[in-house]
Amino acid sequence: MSKPRGVLVAGNWKMNHGPAATRGFLETLGKLEFPSAIVQRASRGRALQGAILVPAVSLEAARSVIDAQGWSDVLQVGAQNAHFEASGAFTGELSGPLLKEIGVNLALVGHSERRQYFGETDESAGKRTASLLSQGFEVILCVGENRSERKTGRTKAVLSKQLTEAFQAAQSWMTSRGLELTPTHWARLAIAYEPVWAIGTGLTASPEQAQDAHLFIRTWLEKSAKTAGFPLPPAQTTAILYGGSVTPDNFSGLLACPDVDGGLVGGASLKPESFLKLIEAAAQVI
Ligand code: PEP
Repeated sequence: MSKPRGVLVAGNWKMNHGPAATRGFLETLGKLEFPSAIVQRASRGRALQGAILVPAVSLEAARSVIDAQGWSDVLQVGAQNAHFEASGAFTGELSGPLLKEIGVNLALVGHSERRQYFGETDESAGKRTASLLSQGFEVILCVGENRSERKTGRTKAVLSKQLTEAFQAAQSWMTSRGLELTPTHWARLAIAYEPVWAIGTGLTASPEQAQDAHLFIRTWLEKSAKTAGFPLPPAQTTAILYGGSVTPDNFSGLLACPDVDGGLVGGASLKPESFLKLIEAAAQVI
């Protein structure tokens, strides 16, 4: 099997692992002989990419160990969020320039926990996406329906609304600054389909459910490109990751779906042994 868009395996550590635990995780990864020959081969030309999205206090520790080990071609460090403004009175936030100063060029945006507990919206996710892409970041933008939306058959309507509002906000943000998102910017965007009912619950979308939602997102990008009146990420080349209780046991089945281009993984990314299994599973499909 081959994956035309490569495979990205991003571990979302949420509020876990300070700098000491981060160093310990990476040390164990090294002892487990990461990256194996097959992972190194798969990561050529960035076909396979690993990433860890660590708490803010652990970013620098992670980045410096990864640099020292020479792993930066295969394992990136990212932030779990970043604000759209470069600086200012935004207590508790991180910005693109602050992250760049410590060598971090990847950020997650619009995670459902940010939406659920911290009032983030499609609009703020869209502005963050646009701002970070325009600063040269790689961005993972999360979307996904909750349990009652799935049960009442509204999954596609919810995805459509989330994408529409996020990309409209992205466009407005760019226009207000006289900027434009080019294909080079869009090439750094991945969309994560994360059904909220599957996050941290042990309930995973079946490969059929994941493929159906991913294909819907890709088709939405294709159709909307003709009607939106502003540029959108290219349908065929934008990576769409699945997130929601991914484990080493179910990842291969999900990766077998043609429109699943990787995973955004919470719980199963916290232990080096299981993170390594996820990376190895991804390397098998490159
Ligand atoms: C996540 O944090 O985005 C996530 C999908 O978590 P989990 O894998 O634990 O469900």
